[in-house]
Amino acid sequence: MRRDSALTTCQHSPACPVASAPDHDAARVVSRHPEQGWSLLCNGVVVFEDTGEILPDGRTIAPHRPACRLAGAA
Ligand SMILES: [Zn+2]
Repeated sequence: MRRDSALTTCQHSPACPVASAPDHDAARVVSRHPEQGWSLLCNGVVVFEDTGEILPDGRTIAPHRPACRLAGAA
């Protein structure tokens, strides 16, 4: 089984997308913190309520919620 990061805790079968995969946000949530607005996925990615993300290697991904155009710039 291929593992891109030592930080991954995925125990699922079949394995979830790794953090470097385009569909990494399809991995399962292993730790949910709704009061703080973020969740940890089993591939080590942190996903925020506004769809922003932090990857295990420290890279950040800006929010990319498709509907944000309807709400205007925030
Ligand atoms: Zn998983």
